Amino acid sequence: MTTPITTSETSAPPGHDIATLEARILELSAENTELRGEIRVARRAADLTAELVVQQFEETEAVLSRLQVVNAQNTAVLEAASEISIIATDLDGRITLLNRGAEELLGIRLPKDGDSLSIIDVHLPEELHSRSSWSNETPGMHHRHIDVYAEYVAGGRSRGELWTFVRSDGTRVPVSLSITALRGAEGQVTGYLSAAVDLTPHQQAEQAVRRAVTLMQEAIAYSPVFVWETDAEGRLTFVLGGQKVLGYATDEILGRRFGELRREGTNCQAHQESVETAVANREAFEHLLSCVRSKDGDHLWISMSAHPIVEPGGEFRGYRGVNVDVTELTLARQALEEMALHDQLTGLSNRRKLYDRFRVEIARLKRLSSPLSLLLVDIDRFKSINDQHGHLVGDDCLRLMADLFVSALRESDLVARFGGEEFIVLLPETGLAEARLVAEKLRETVQDAYLSVRGVSTPLRVTVCVGVAEMLPDKVMSLDDLIERADRAAYQAKAAGRNSVVVYEGTSG
Ligand code: GH3
Ligand code: MG
Ligand code: MG
Repeated sequence: MTTPITTSETSAPPGHDIATLEARILELSAENTELRGEIRVARRAADLTAELVVQQFEETEAVLSRLQVVNAQNTAVLEAASEISIIATDLDGRITLLNRGAEELLGIRLPKDGDSLSIIDVHLPEELHSRSSWSNETPGMHHRHIDVYAEYVAGGRSRGELWTFVRSDGTRVPVSLSITALRGAEGQVTGYLSAAVDLTPHQQAEQAVRRAVTLMQEAIAYSPVFVWETDAEGRLTFVLGGQKVLGYATDEILGRRFGELRREGTNCQAHQESVETAVANREAFEHLLSCVRSKDGDHLWISMSAHPIVEPGGEFRGYRGVNVDVTELTLARQALEEMALHDQLTGLSNRRKLYDRFRVEIARLKRLSSPLSLLLVDIDRFKSINDQHGHLVGDDCLRLMADLFVSALRESDLVARFGGEEFIVLLPETGLAEARLVAEKLRETVQDAYLSVRGVSTPLRVTVCVGVAEMLPDKVMSLDDLIERADRAAYQAKAAGRNSVVVYEGTSG
C-alpha cells in the first residue's frame, strides 16, 4: 500500500507532469484517510474485546468465590452435624466423604494413601441381607450388599429406619439411618449419602422408662395402693391397681366419682369434708383420710394424696392422685387411741382423757360463763368384796358399777375411772345444787342395784360415797384442785357413815 513519495522536481519520473503528481497526491491522501478509519475501527474492536475479557474474568471470579462460600458452608454443615454420621459413597459403596460425626460414631477415618473404605464394612452383613428384596428370590442370582442401598433409593425409602452399625472395634451401635441418592448433572445416580443418628441414648432412656414403669406397676401390684386420675367433673378417667383395693374392675369404676363409693359414718364425716374442701378449692392435698365402701361392702379407710392437673395455659383438667388402703392401720390406731384414753377393765375414760376433757370444759365454761361440777365416787368397803369373793369378782363388780354410772348420767357427762375403786364424774354446765341431785341419784342407783356377778350365787349389794365440788366461771382452778375438794367432801361422807353425798363447803376460790 505504501508508495515512496519524492518531492524533488528534478527527480520527477519521466512522463509525469505536475498535474499527474497532484492527482497522485490526492489519491494517496484519500487512501490515508481510509486507512486511518480502518485503524480506528480496529482499535475500537480491540477495546471492546478487552472490556469483554475483563468482564468475563470478573464474572468467573465472582462465581468461583460464590462456589468457595457454598463449599465452605457445606463443609461447616457436615462438620457441625457432629451428632449425625454422614457418609457419602460412590455406586460401589466406596466411601468418598466422612464427616466428624461418622468418624466419632464409628471410629474410622478416610484413608489418605489411596486405600478405599467400604460402607459395607460398617454394616452387619446379615442385616443387609435380611433387608434386601432378593433374600427369598431366585437362588444363584448374584447381588452385592451395596445393592440394598440402590433398592432403598429406588424405593424412595429415605426416612430413618433402625439399623445396626459396627464400629471399628467391633462393637455394635443402633442407628436411625436414612439413605439418599447423590445425582450427577443429568440426574443419574452417582452414589449414596447415608445419614445416621446414634440411638443408644434414646434406647437407654426408653429402657429406663420401661424399667420405671415396670417397677411402678409391680410396686402397685404388691401394695395396697391404687393410682387414679379424674376429669374436671371428678369422674375417674384412669385407675391402676383399684380392683385389688376396691374390688371393682377398672371398667366398672371408670366414669364414676369417689363420692359414689363413699361410706357414711360418724367418724368419717370430718375426713370427707377435708377432702371435699381441698377439691372445691382445687388444692393439692396429702394423706387425707376418707371412708369408702368396697364392692363387697367392706368398710375401708383410704389415705388420699392428690394434686390438680392444670394445663400450661392454666386450665383445670381434673385431679391425679394416689390412694392407699390404710384400713388395718387406721383400725389399729383407733384401737390404740382407745386404749390410751380408756380404762382397760371398765372401758370408762381414764385419767388422760379426763384431763383432756377438762381442758375442753374450761374453754366452754369461760365461753358460756356457766359453772362446772365434779363428783368423786368411792365404793364403800370395796376391799371386803375382794376379800370375800376374790379379786376377779371384784373386777366384775367394778365393770357393773361403771355401766351403772354411765346409764345413770347424761351423755354429755364424763365418767372416768380415777383410781382402783374411785371414779370421777365431770358435769359440764352444772351448778352445785344440780350436781348434788345427780350425786344423790347415783348413790341411790348403786344402793338399789343388785349386781349379778359370775360365780357368786347371790347378787352383790354395794354403796358409794360421793364428794361434790363446783367450779365457777370466775374462779377457774386446776383439775387437781377441784378433785382435791371433791375428795375432801368424799372423806367427810365416809366419816359420816358411808352411802352418802357430801358437798364441798369450803371457801371457794
Ligand atoms: P372405804 O369404804 O374406806 O373406801 O373402804 P375400801 O375398802 O373401799 O377402801 P380401801 O382404799 O381401803 O380399799 C380399796 C380396795 O379396792 C383395795 C383394793 O384391793 C381394791 N381395788 C382397787 N383396784 C382394784 C381393781 O382393779 N380390782 C379389784 N378387784 N379390786 C381393786
Ligand atoms: Mg378408795
Ligand atoms: Mg372405797
